[in-house]
Amino acid sequence: MNAVENVFPKAMNLLCLFHICKNVKAKCKMTVFPKKKQVQIMEAWEALIYSYDEAQYYMKLAIFEGICSSCSIFYDYVHEQWLIPHKERFVEAWTNRVMHFGNTTTQRVESAHWSLKRILQDSIGDICSVWETINSMIVLQHNEIIASFEKSIIQKVHRYSNRLYANLRGVLSKNAIDHIAAEYDRVKYVSIDQTECRCTIRTTHGLPCACEIARYSMIPRSIPLDAIHGWWSKLTFHVDASSQPSELSVKHEIDVIVKKFEELDVPGKISLKGKLREIAYPSTTSMFPPVAKVKTKGAPKKDKSKVSKRDKSTKRDPSW
Ligand SMILES: [Zn+2]
Repeated sequence: MNAVENVFPKAMNLLCLFHICKNVKAKCKMTVFPKKKQVQIMEAWEALIYSYDEAQYYMKLAIFEGICSSCSIFYDYVHEQWLIPHKERFVEAWTNRVMHFGNTTTQRVESAHWSLKRILQDSIGDICSVWETINSMIVLQHNEIIASFEKSIIQKVHRYSNRLYANLRGVLSKNAIDHIAAEYDRVKYVSIDQTECRCTIRTTHGLPCACEIARYSMIPRSIPLDAIHGWWSKLTFHVDASSQPSELSVKHEIDVIVKKFEELDVPGKISLKGKLREIAYPSTTSMFPPVAKVKTKGAPKKDKSKVSKRDKSTKRDPSW
């Protein structure tokens, strides 16, 4: 945090809401009794951190303080460790003013870390095998991102056939249009009232908020592309790619595939041909759901009775 302040003095350095809540909850479990009181306190805490403006924050703070009156150890911890020094970095009243594109926790990093740990299995691989593994993981993720881009460009969602989205279909990520649709649902309560709207999605995500959408639908006109932050329309890794649907072409991609195909060995050729067949004949597929339920949380657990010496040791094979 000190380094960020020095190197990027104008940047707002947020803190992970998930981990702060985890710490607060643990402290509450240790210092507050009975259990019923813990639930009450955690509810007041949640209301506090999701305060949408400063006035609401101080109101919720008074309620929180009242509930904690008999738990001074817990209250002092929360107040001195988190609220006084850091509230601007995690309470919504302040983070709602920052363009964070929805990243208010470290979830992205955590899940990348989890994927890597799962794929590496242990900490004793030599640098060659670890490099290979990390490389193939990144290639795989890169392909998944490209696939999600393609989905945003091609897939038609019936819900978004409204002319309001005419300029956005196939140009924005599906995720961005979902956000706009959620704001569109608020229009009936908010209309063009800015105070009622609070315009959070505009400041945090760079997307049109309910009051803005209300103005477009009154004219009526479609949401213009320049009302959207450029971050949401980046659906390619190419620097020079055109975003004009009329200029879309797959010639470059086909050429690359043909070239790649010629360089492959026989098993590689069969595998690539299989993938292309799936695109050419979409009614057939080689994919099946996994037979057993796949566990997707936590690091792989080791069965203690079966842990071999190799698994327990953190020493590398010196010959590497
Ligand atoms: Zn608004």
